[in-house]
Amino acid sequence: MMRKQASHSRRRLLDSARELPARAEELAAERGPLLKGAFQLRGTRCGKDNCKCSRGELHTTAVLVVSEDGTRRSYYVRPCERPEVQRRVERYLRLRSKRLELSKLCDELLTGADDLLDALAQPHIPQRDKEGLKRPSRPRARKNKNR
Ligand SMILES: [Zn+2]
Repeated sequence: MMRKQASHSRRRLLDSARELPARAEELAAERGPLLKGAFQLRGTRCGKDNCKCSRGELHTTAVLVVSEDGTRRSYYVRPCERPEVQRRVERYLRLRSKRLELSKLCDELLTGADDLLDALAQPHIPQRDKEGLKRPSRPRARKNKNR
């Protein structure tokens, strides 16, 4: 039972460790630039009475939402900037998810290591000497230390 658990933990540890370099290299290979934020397309009305948007056909406005010092800010993205902004935001999100995978892998590795330690650990059973008496496993604490 204990041996089986140890070999399972050992496999878990080693499998995670083998996968780790490839995952780390995926992250390290990224050269950027990345954009930390959310790219959104919003339907807007321009306000002109005879425009198609007044009949419900909204204009599409691209917005970049970023967090600056804990405050959410929205920035208009010009049509010519859209593809590049969108690409950078998507690359950032892709790398974030790779980082999450790396974190899960590290958890897996550490869980394997912890389980292996638990599986291999055995309680200390004091040895008996020739007379069959227990040897004290530790010095006895004195009850009245100050007297
Ligand atoms: Zn309009």
